[in-house]
Amino acid sequence: MAYQHSLDGETLGLPVGKVVCVGRNYAEHAKELNNPVPTSPILFIKPATAIVPFTGEILIPKEQGSCHHELEMSVLIGKTLTNATEQEVKDAILGFGLGLDLTLRDLQSRLKEKSHPWEIAKSFDGACPLSGFVPASVVTDPMDMPLQLSVNGAVRQQGTTADMITPLYSLISYMSRHFTLQLGDVVMTGTPAGVAALQEGDQLEATLGDVLSCAARVV
Ligand code: ZN
Repeated sequence: MAYQHSLDGETLGLPVGKVVCVGRNYAEHAKELNNPVPTSPILFIKPATAIVPFTGEILIPKEQGSCHHELEMSVLIGKTLTNATEQEVKDAILGFGLGLDLTLRDLQSRLKEKSHPWEIAKSFDGACPLSGFVPASVVTDPMDMPLQLSVNGAVRQQGTTADMITPLYSLISYMSRHFTLQLGDVVMTGTPAGVAALQEGDQLEATLGDVLSCAARVV
């Protein structure tokens, strides 16, 4: 099943654009990977070809070492944003959802050691499972939303968007100074601590507060 953007379960017919992501936006996660906390956001992009539905079965690469889950709050962009103010960002958000920033961690570590770009560890086909979105109006405070990932019934990642180093609107404003965001693009807002390798057969369950939940099995 090909991915399509949906809001409240209704397919939107929007273009599926790029995914703009941020590394190390939660201090506890930077710490668990022995990375310094950055002084400005570390941005990277996953292409539209990385997006798959966060439902049913999620296919992970098997031949390139560990593939880590990173559960993140995702944001569906509804308007063009270039050098946007925080208010313009707020007005451009169509909905909130959940995404996995799948990461080939061993490969990424090897590339980082050589100071090479780690694109292939983050942007491969299927590297960005996305849930459907809930309308922005449903989320009363997107800057304090709990998010949680369970694997085989055990909680692995638990956090709140209140712990982002660069908060939501200022993060997207910063992104828009580097990359124009367009209708149908998605922003991933960083992962709380608890990332770990996925195994074949793992059953994933993710929640965003009490407004959204999704589940999938790793194959
Ligand atoms: Zn991430």
